[in-house]
Order: sequence, then C-alpha cells, then structure tokens
Amino acid sequence: MASLRCATRLASLTRVSQSVFARLPGFAGGQAHTAVRASPLLVRACAAAAELAKQPVLDNKMFCYQCEQTSKGTGCTTVGVCGKTPEMAFLQDLLTYSLKGLGCWADFARQQGVEVPRKVYSLLNAATFATLTNVNFHDARFKEYISTCQSLREGLEKSLRDKGIDASPPAPVNLPWFDLLAHPAAWKLNQSYLAAASMDQLTQLGKMTSLEHRRHVVDPTLLGLHEMITYGLRGLAAYSHHAEVLGHRDPEVDEFMARCYAFLCSEDALDLGKTLGMVDELGAVGVKGMQLLDKGHTTKFGHPEPTQVRITPKKGKAILISGHDLQDTHDLLAQTEGTGINVWTHGELLPAHGYPALKKRFPHLVGNYGGAWYRQQKDFAEFPGAVLMTTNCIVEPRQSYADRIFTTGEVGWAGVRHIEGEMGRTKDYSALISKAQELPGFEYEPPESEAKFVTTGFARNAVLGVAGEVVKAVQEGHLKHIFLIGGCDGSEPDRKYFGRVADATPQDTMVLTLGCGKFRFYDHDFGMLPNTPLPRLVDMGQCNDAYSAVVVASKLAEVFGTDINGLPLSLDLSWLEQKAVIILLSLLHLNVKNIRIGPRAPAFLTPEALKVIVDKWNLQIVDTKNPESDVQKMMAGQ
Ligand code: SF4
Ligand code: SF4
Repeated sequence: MASLRCATRLASLTRVSQSVFARLPGFAGGQAHTAVRASPLLVRACAAAAELAKQPVLDNKMFCYQCEQTSKGTGCTTVGVCGKTPEMAFLQDLLTYSLKGLGCWADFARQQGVEVPRKVYSLLNAATFATLTNVNFHDARFKEYISTCQSLREGLEKSLRDKGIDASPPAPVNLPWFDLLAHPAAWKLNQSYLAAASMDQLTQLGKMTSLEHRRHVVDPTLLGLHEMITYGLRGLAAYSHHAEVLGHRDPEVDEFMARCYAFLCSEDALDLGKTLGMVDELGAVGVKGMQLLDKGHTTKFGHPEPTQVRITPKKGKAILISGHDLQDTHDLLAQTEGTGINVWTHGELLPAHGYPALKKRFPHLVGNYGGAWYRQQKDFAEFPGAVLMTTNCIVEPRQSYADRIFTTGEVGWAGVRHIEGEMGRTKDYSALISKAQELPGFEYEPPESEAKFVTTGFARNAVLGVAGEVVKAVQEGHLKHIFLIGGCDGSEPDRKYFGRVADATPQDTMVLTLGCGKFRFYDHDFGMLPNTPLPRLVDMGQCNDAYSAVVVASKLAEVFGTDINGLPLSLDLSWLEQKAVIILLSLLHLNVKNIRIGPRAPAFLTPEALKVIVDKWNLQIVDTKNPESDVQKMMAGQ
C-alpha cells in the first residue's frame, strides 16, 4: 500500500523545478536507474517517480526498524522508542551513506595495493558502532563522524593518485537504493560546506539516503537482507571497536568491514543469492570479531573466575559505571584508588567482578547496583553518587541525575558531560571523581549477615575447568539438559517469558546465561545440580562474551563425539539490538539449529526472508504465552 501511495503521489508530480536538494553540495543528479530485479511493478513505478521528482518519499516523520523494541513491531515512524528523533535518524542515515563511501574507497585502495591507514578502519568501527541502538544521540558528534569520513576518503583518493592510480572504485548507477544522491563512492561533501552546514541541512541530505525513502523504492525482502547486513556490521563494529580499545586488531576483520560496505554498494547486492552469501560471510567474520574481543579481555584482565558480587549497599562515596567497557572500568578503578570512593558496576558490567585484574587488584570495586539497562532512569536516579556510561545502552537522562552522569567513548547525549579520550591513551576521570566527592554516597548498609550476593565469572575457562564433572553428570543421568538463556533485556512485558523459562527448567538441568537478559532471573535461587558439585545457574558474562559460550559448546561436542546440534543443549535468546544480530548470524554460520529467539521476530525480515532462515536452520520465535511448553519442546530437542 505504501508503494501504491507513493507511486500515485509521485506520479502526480509533473515536474519539480530546482529542488532544494539540487542546490546542496554532494547532490548528483542525472543518474539512470533500473529497478531491482525482485521489485514489483509498483515499486519500480515508485522508483521512477522518485527519480523524476528527485525528492525523497517520506510517508512518515522517520523510519527505523533496526531493533526489537521498534514501535508496534514494525517500525518507529514518529520518534524512536529508544528516544531517537527523526533528525537523529536522518543524520545516522547520512553517516551510514558516508561510511559506505569510505568502505568503497578503502576496499578499492587495498585491492590496488595502496596501504589503508589504520585510522580509516578505526573510524569505520567507531562510527558504525555509534549508529547501534542506544549508543549516541548527540547530533554534533554525528557531524564530526561525517566530516572525518569525508576527509579520510579524500586521503585515500590522494594516496591512489600519488601512486599514479587514476581509477576510482566502481560506482554503478543502476542501484535503486542510491537513486537520489550520487553513488556513495562518487559522492563528496567538501569540508568547507560541512563546517558551515546546519544540522537542518544535513538532515535534509539524510532524508535522501534514508531508510524511510529507500523502503519505497527497493524490494522489501532484498532491502531487509541488506539492512540485516548493515545491522550485523554494527554489531561486528561494536566488537572490533571494543577490542581495539584493548589494543587488539585483526586485519581480516578490519578489511571485511570495508569490503562488506562496498558489497552493499555493488551490483552483486542486487542478487538475492549473493546477498545471502554475504550474510553467511558476515556470520563467519562475526566469530572472529567475538574471538578478538575475548582475547582482548582475557590477555589484559585474566580469565574470569567464579566470584560473589554484593548487590546490597555499602557505606561510602560512590561511582556507578555502566555499559560494557572493561578498560574504562580498570582506569577508573586505578584513578579512584585511595580516594575513599567505592566503584559499583551496573548492567552489563556485572561480569567485570570476575576478572582477576579488576576484582583482586581493586578492593574498592565493591558490588553491582541495579539491573538491566532499561531500568537505568530509576537506578541512576536512586544511586547516591556519580554515574559513568561507557557504551550502550544509554537512555535519556532524567533531570534528577542529569548533572551527575557522564558519557565516554562513542556514547553521547546532547548536554551530558563527555569524558574525552584518544584511542590507546588513559582518560582523565577527575571531573567524575570530583562530582562523586560532592555527593553523599551510601550512608547506610545492612548488617553483613543480611547482605545479598550473586555469582558471576563462569566464562569458558571456568566452565571447561569443570567439563569433566559436566560430562560425568550427563553420563550418570544427573544432568538431562543445558539451556542457554541469554541476550538482551528490555522493557516489554513479553520479556518476562525468559525469566519464566529459566524458572521452569527442571532440577536436573543447568542454565547458562550471558548478556543483560540474566537480570530477569540472576538473583533467583537455582541451587546446585543434585548429586554433583555444579551450580544450576552459570553466568558466563556479557553479551560481548558470546564467544565463551561457543567455545564451551564446541568443546563439549568434541568430548561427546558429536556436533553442537547433537548436544543436550538448547539456545533461547532474547534479542534487542545489533550485537544480538551478529551473534545470531555467527551461530547460524556455525550451523547451530533450533535456536529460539524473541520476544519477536526482527521487523526488517520479511516473511519470505525469515522463511529462508527457518527452512535452513529451523530458527524459531519464542512462544511468549507458553514458556513451560517451550521448555518441554527444548528438552525434546525441538
Ligand atoms: S533503534 Fe530501535 S527503538 Fe530506536 S528508532 Fe530504531 S527501531 Fe526504534
Ligand atoms: S546485552 Fe544488549 S541490551 Fe543488554 S546492555 Fe548489552 S547491548 Fe544493551
């Protein structure tokens, strides 16, 4: 219907003289277009009409469906459920266009034997990560990213010319999703324009590259798969950016980022089969990205060990650190040593307590406060100290704590103080520490006998250390099934399903968990697996530690002489944002079958695209109404 509406509306436009966009730098008109092969007639008519008008087709104020919490399960069309404004959505679309152009140039330069500076890949990772759900909402930062993209792209062009290479990356003119601006490889914004451009001007440009426009001119199944690749790249960028912060790079992952962006700008992306091939390749590189981050964490901070973590107050000045960044956690702990300030983790930083180089070295890392990210407005308002948000997932700060929250890294919110820092250099947290000194901190603590604790730190080394016990428990019939219940948490009532699944697991089963989804049940008493020394609940860490779960499953499969699908193991994954997308693609690449995801299917996948995945891997959407029935089915290997 949207296609029909836009075709009708645009066809009625006989002529648009001198669109405002035509006067903007970077605007390239006159491209000939052929429609995507899979496009229905009306979509082609719509594309042709848009071409004629050189106006984006905008039925809504914005359109974004990259995460699970998207409005009505179909798309955010007026303002994001996450708080993203239409202007921010269009700026992110424009940044993605710029990143595609930079990816094309980086991939082309590499193929021509020209060295691509590391800073190009660093920017690809950092800026791509900034477009992930709930990372950065600060318009000025997006303008900076776009400007840096343009200057790095100019640098690559110069390096090619300096080597006597006069060619440019391919810029096919028949891709319907680039119908209003020149192909990203051919599109330039000059720096003086960018320096003077208002946010409104950039927003207008962003509309021409926007998903809201593209969804009217591209076949929805193909568009959905392209978006899945884009979102998977965002998840991969999160991993590689986090790893880079820890000093670890993998040239293969870096080069793939550029190549994958270039793929989305190529005629190959018109082909459904080649697009599905790229989805699989992205999953393969996703495993490498996860491995790289795991290496970064474990070489720097040691292998996590099972650790008791306090979740009740302790007297003293206090800083709460949230997000996922262990390097920031380490550096903040080092700078607060001897100040009398206690450091508390929040959300996905709970697993930080398991790392020997953090917990053992810094006794003032005292506990975990609050729950998953979506509760932060309540948690941060009630916390009696200063707060640092290191990575996703930030929510609009409330007035009650706006003057005591800080962001760092790629996180941003207009008006919130940002702690700057260059890659590889230690940041200065003194403003945050001073703020904590001004605040009361916890003035009460319960008697030690009433203090509550949870356990974390069962990453791959700890679990594999008891692999013999696990195998014995299976062989002796004490362990019937293992459930991996993990991933992201969120505010929707349907997510209670994951807590109910965990609670419904029988006594002779184990529950592995990771990600902030654990907060649905992490403090429930699961007890021990009868007749064994094994706890029934095993917290393997952050969503960033998915690699740990892959290693454990692969090793157990090896011991039992089977593959992952042959183990008494079921995956029940809660997804929210794009790290979950890359984890899912990686698991599918590893040919893991019968995965359940939920609470809803991704809005960006059409029923046709979903069917391809369901047919090949038997991917299932969780039955939120019947968690107990899902438990039975999983135990039956379905
Ligand atoms: S990131 Fe999610 S919640 Fe935010 S606008 Fe996009 S789909 Fe909506
Ligand atoms: S698991 Fe997902 S939703 Fe939860 S904090 Fe990490 S990135 Fe955000």
